[in-house]
Amino acid sequence: MLRTTNCGALTLAQLGEEVILAGWVQKTRDKGFMLWVDLRDRYGITQVIFDEERTPKAVMEKAQNLGREFVIQVKGTVIERESKNPNLPTGDIEILAADLVVLNQAKTPPFTIENETDGGEELRMQYRYLDIRRTPVRENLVFRSQVSLAIRNYLSENGFIDVETPYLIKSTPEGARDFVVPSRMNEGQFYALPQSPQTFKQLLMVGGMDKYFQIVKCFRDEDLRADRQPEFTQIDCEMTFVEQEDVLQQFEGLLAHLLKEIKGVTTGPFPRMTYAEAMSKYGNDKPDIRFGMTFTELNDLAKDKGFNVFDQQELIVGIAVPGAASYTRKQIDKLIDWVKRPQIGANGLVWVKCNEDGTFKSSVDKFYNTEDLAAWAESMGAKAGDLLLVMAGPSHKTRTQLSALRMELAEQMGLRKANEFAPLWVVDFPLLEWDEETDRFHAMHHPFTAPKPEQLELLDSAPGTVNANAYDLVLNGNEIGGGSIRIHDAETQEKMFSLLGFSPEEAKAQFGFLMEAFQYGAPPHGGIALGLDRLVAILGGQETIRDFIAFPKNNSGRDLMIDAPSTIDNAQLEELRLKLNLD
Ligand code: ASP
Repeated sequence: MLRTTNCGALTLAQLGEEVILAGWVQKTRDKGFMLWVDLRDRYGITQVIFDEERTPKAVMEKAQNLGREFVIQVKGTVIERESKNPNLPTGDIEILAADLVVLNQAKTPPFTIENETDGGEELRMQYRYLDIRRTPVRENLVFRSQVSLAIRNYLSENGFIDVETPYLIKSTPEGARDFVVPSRMNEGQFYALPQSPQTFKQLLMVGGMDKYFQIVKCFRDEDLRADRQPEFTQIDCEMTFVEQEDVLQQFEGLLAHLLKEIKGVTTGPFPRMTYAEAMSKYGNDKPDIRFGMTFTELNDLAKDKGFNVFDQQELIVGIAVPGAASYTRKQIDKLIDWVKRPQIGANGLVWVKCNEDGTFKSSVDKFYNTEDLAAWAESMGAKAGDLLLVMAGPSHKTRTQLSALRMELAEQMGLRKANEFAPLWVVDFPLLEWDEETDRFHAMHHPFTAPKPEQLELLDSAPGTVNANAYDLVLNGNEIGGGSIRIHDAETQEKMFSLLGFSPEEAKAQFGFLMEAFQYGAPPHGGIALGLDRLVAILGGQETIRDFIAFPKNNSGRDLMIDAPSTIDNAQLEELRLKLNLD
């Protein structure tokens, strides 16, 4: 080893010891006769002192020529520091240098490698290896490793076997576009990168593997919404001979274990909510239940009072914002502007102040008297001092808009506390979702999800009303996992494909292997996949997944460091028999 210890280890306990440290020069302070270097490695920072009187002259000179981020090796003695730094674990000591070797020089880094850096996101991504030298980024990666390990331990202790599945596969439509890879050896043919190992894990169950897991990369060629990555990591799991309840118990156990192990947080049984309830109470299938402001429908109370705007709408729905009756006109107008932005697209917002003295003031005073408004407030469970915010329009759209407002308000009011964890299960998702654009059903989860057995009959007569044995695990307003009990017989699977608009030939061409497998004794099975990137970010108290990925892509799906994607040369194209048509 080029060192005897690391830069985070030394304290007064090692006083007088001779040590060798290696690391990067974080900064130097040169007073001429004395020079200090903050030496950094993964474990911390140790101060090194070069002193004219006690350090050999040649060493002193070398030290004077050190630049930021030089890689050095220092030999010296642990001495007590005169001015101690209580913020550093090594802050009581320093190393009196006796020798110095420059292991490598460094150009001046394009941004400061400190906790707070002057580097913008783009620059930091371009020089991600320098960014990773910064403590907050490094700590996030270490944290991710700890979470992964805790997951592996839990699953392994619970009998799950880690099996790798291939990355070069055949397209499986799971809602997103596939990334494809041309095959040189099979002219004109393409592999697809897996959107998830879904069919493989099911085939492992047919193969008798019983309990499978894999921490695995998945690839989806989606238009990138904020904070999505084209390649991301799933904790992918599948179990045999289980019902929905078994899967919920097992993975509730996993998350509870992680919360305990990583955050020291003990959770009770996770609440469960049906999809229908989540949509009607929160306008959202991944509700953040750390705070209230649940929805109240006001159709009965607000219609037919002469307010035209409401009378014609399908849904009138509102929330009571605690303590916000004191908002000024300007603050309320800001909220109105916020919901009218194209991203939200609402027409407006009706507000009612429930004043402390029991009176009401609203934007619709002309149409509703005090009794009307009192009835609204009562049905919404509002207290004096609350502000009612009401929206109206088509049901689904209005709920979604109000949900966005609810989350924004919670953010503004500091109700989304990073160290508070509120997991829940959302269950009973619809099996199918009607898509106006393509005029056909889509699988709400994916085409392998089983309908509720008691609703099987309805698949023919009223497929749109059938619910699935599908579930999402939600944490702090984020979907961190989703799964289902699967179809395990060829007949139901065929029916499902046909409902989704596949002809028997298309189904056979794409999924013949799965339907064939179902004819060789496929056991009942089900599973789930959790998104590791997001889970780690939330446990780490942040919501940006990029901060927890060593080499993330930007919002255009680019890796700025290696400059990918990039063109390939003609020889490569020719070998693949590909011709570009870029007109
Ligand atoms: N493969 C599914 C997904 O990626 C998860 C599952 O159903 O297990 O969302």
